[in-house]
Amino acid sequence: MAVHAHPDDESSKGAATTARYAAEGVEVLVVTCTGGERGDILNPSFEVPQGHEFESVEGRRAVRRLEMAQATEALGVRHRWLGFVDSGLPEGDPLPPLPEGSFALVPLEEAAAPLVQAVREFRPHVITTYDPSGGYPHPDHIKCHEVSFEAFHAAGDPDRYPGTGEPWQPLKLYYNHGFSMARFRAVHEAMQGAGLESPFGEWIESHDAREIPERQVTTLVPVADYFPQRDAALTAHASQIDPAGFFFAVPRDLEADVWPWDEYELAESRVPLPERAAGEYEHDLFEGVRSGVLA
Ligand SMILES: [Zn+2]
Repeated sequence: MAVHAHPDDESSKGAATTARYAAEGVEVLVVTCTGGERGDILNPSFEVPQGHEFESVEGRRAVRRLEMAQATEALGVRHRWLGFVDSGLPEGDPLPPLPEGSFALVPLEEAAAPLVQAVREFRPHVITTYDPSGGYPHPDHIKCHEVSFEAFHAAGDPDRYPGTGEPWQPLKLYYNHGFSMARFRAVHEAMQGAGLESPFGEWIESHDAREIPERQVTTLVPVADYFPQRDAALTAHASQIDPAGFFFAVPRDLEADVWPWDEYELAESRVPLPERAAGEYEHDLFEGVRSGVLA
């Protein structure tokens, strides 16, 4: 189960991993907390589909549902909406208050209940989500971490969240780290080495980038064979992803050479795992799970 804040996050964080596991026969469910109703148009070549508008909350929700259905198909995964409303990314100084009723303002138990229900119905062995910082400081991403963490811990407890199904304890919890500085540096240097213009130079040097604490990556899942599915899913989010932009700036053969992985941090495990020295990585989100489940 891959839990994400907005439609398109499943395509920019761990997408190739979900496509790979789905192709290998794992049942994969992407869960999206909000409808992405406050996302602006981020692709200059985007054209609002006929019969739709992108001005109102309802209009955006409808367009982003169309995009999400395409992305889901490209990845070969199942999908479920939790039905909360996008909080938007507050900007300005001082920051404006979040819109009333938005996901980030919903009290934790109320916000986590539909996810606990989804966990109890789908019965995942592995859950992926964001780290406590949200991975990037969008209030919905931080909230996505909070509800995922809560669901991982509460779904197996028969006394918690009554009325949301039979208890189910997931076995491993991971945080997505697809935007690590290690990855940006490796790709940046490889592009410079190949005489190409890198899109990451300014970011690597920037103050903002240095402010983000680096978290521990424990797990590198090899996914280069699934870059085409990831790219098709990204492109499906036409209102958000510029096909001439950042996500497509790196030649795919170079990416497959230098950084053929999705990165994760193992946050919790209820199965025994081998000890690893520094610099050694796990390569399968289901390590320790497959044998345990079959036994
Ligand atoms: Zn998001």
